[in-house]
Amino acid sequence: MIRLSEIKLPLDPPADALPRAVQGLLGVEPDAVAHIHVHKRSFDARKVDLLQVYIVDVTLVDAGLEPVLLAKLAGNPRVTPSPDMVYRLPARAPAGLPLRPVVVGFGPCGIFCALLLAQMGFKPIVLERGKTVRQRTRDTWGLWRKSVLDPESNVQFGEGGAGTFSDGKLYSQIKDPRFLGRKVMEEFVKAGAPPEILYVAHPHIGTFKLVKVVETMRAEIVALGGEVRFEQRVTDVEIEDGQVRGLTVLDQQTGTTSELRADHVVMALGHSSRDTFAML
Ligand SMILES: Cc1cc2nc3c(=O)[nH]c(=O)nc-3n(C[C@H](O)[C@H](O)[C@H](O)COP(=O)(O)OP(=O)(O)OC[C@H]3O[C@@H](n4cnc5c(N)ncnc54)[C@H](O)[C@@H]3O)c2cc1C
Repeated sequence: MIRLSEIKLPLDPPADALPRAVQGLLGVEPDAVAHIHVHKRSFDARKVDLLQVYIVDVTLVDAGLEPVLLAKLAGNPRVTPSPDMVYRLPARAPAGLPLRPVVVGFGPCGIFCALLLAQMGFKPIVLERGKTVRQRTRDTWGLWRKSVLDPESNVQFGEGGAGTFSDGKLYSQIKDPRFLGRKVMEEFVKAGAPPEILYVAHPHIGTFKLVKVVETMRAEIVALGGEVRFEQRVTDVEIEDGQVRGLTVLDQQTGTTSELRADHVVMALGHSSRDTFAML
């Protein structure tokens, strides 16, 4: 594929404006272009007339023409080979793994950790001190409407983590040369987020859509053999010779405590779990 950048179009362009701009930049006939994929769309508001600015990846009907055009247009910084943005899982779970990895916390960090472990075949166990996102939504409304705080199910604790009840702004200023953020966006879209988050400059999922997205991601983890256990608070970590051996888990519903053997634990706690930080 060939990447074309800095394609500027008016705010409300004719339907064929983008294909025509692509053909013009590449110097090809309309029937030479097989597909135009919008990689990014942003706005340039510096002029009186607002402009849309596109970065696109173009597939040609004749793939053999791509290196020819890239060589011909080598001096044009707006025409480059499309980078490889495909995410590849870094490992596969070995057969007969004695202990499953444990993820503590089911906010964004824990969700993506568990999802990737599940996709790699590790069948993770997730322990989350709060409740499912539906129950948590009710508890959080209880705080907002009736000023009743459930210390274990609120804006900070529970499925989805902090920020679940926000509009889900998804942009940051981190550099991402390996396109790892794209994997995150693709997973969100797969789970029901608007597809435009893949290309708009300031993506956001939309208020309360996160609830369904989070549930769908949990369903994938479970379908891949993972488990998400709610109202399970980790109260201690057993360490022997510098190696994690297990966790002490308090069942918040029954008040009973149990031990869970584990040699790989990810603490995805966020920043509000003061009792856990004190324990650590
Ligand atoms: C109102 C609000 C709006 C926000 N809006 C945005 C936004 O639009 N865009 C954005 O990028 N960021 C937003 N943020 C920030 C974002 O939510 C956080 O950066 C993000 O949630 C951090 O993710 P995390 O997984 O590290 O931690 P958290 O989301 O805090 O998740 C940690 C999870 O661990 C669980 N946990 C903690 N201790 C234990 C324990 N001992 N045992 C078991 N489970 C435990 C908690 O219950 C929690 O569910 C917002 C935050 C808030 C509060």
